[in-house]
Amino acid sequence: MYGWMDKYMSPQTSSKAEPSRLRRRVIVELTPDELPLLEAAERRHGGKRAAMLAGLRAEADGVTRQARDGEAEEKRARAVAKRADTQAKAHAALLAECASLKASLATRTRERDAATAEIERLETKAQDQYAALFEDIADLEDRIPDALYCARCDTWAPEPEWTWRADGEDEIAYHTPCGDHGPGMLSNATWLARRRVA
Ligand SMILES: [Zn+2]
Repeated sequence: MYGWMDKYMSPQTSSKAEPSRLRRRVIVELTPDELPLLEAAERRHGGKRAAMLAGLRAEADGVTRQARDGEAEEKRARAVAKRADTQAKAHAALLAECASLKASLATRTRERDAATAEIERLETKAQDQYAALFEDIADLEDRIPDALYCARCDTWAPEPEWTWRADGEDEIAYHTPCGDHGPGMLSNATWLARRRVA
């Protein structure tokens, strides 16, 4: 069917040039089992020519529709593929972000653990230093004399009777009841001790 159609329908460009004069006689042979198809179409369209034209037009419409459907299907397939691609990219981006967040979380966790360990270490160190300091204080307290000798009143002066006063960069302690007196010609000094001020 396509063979003769191609042969006789193709010179459409020349029929455009002179439409009124161009005619082609087409002879078609039908087998007995094909004849009822033509007769039925003839009844519907009122003649052999009209029946044949209706068939050809329907076939052309079918081809056009198929092409249109094919294009639409292709367009739909392209849209589906594009959507799938977009979704795949979004999914991959989410996965990458998720992996990045997990890595970031792992880093933060390590940093937090390290910071916690450092705090514990410093706390232990501070406690040790505090304990050592108390030991030093206790040791120093043991070394402080209980009494210092005042030459003026010839007594051992206990710590509550000491008065410390500045003397340059140092401090001097004197016996409070006797007052602040340095060594002299007629009397003895009341000075008890000297210390460096830190
Ligand atoms: Zn004294």
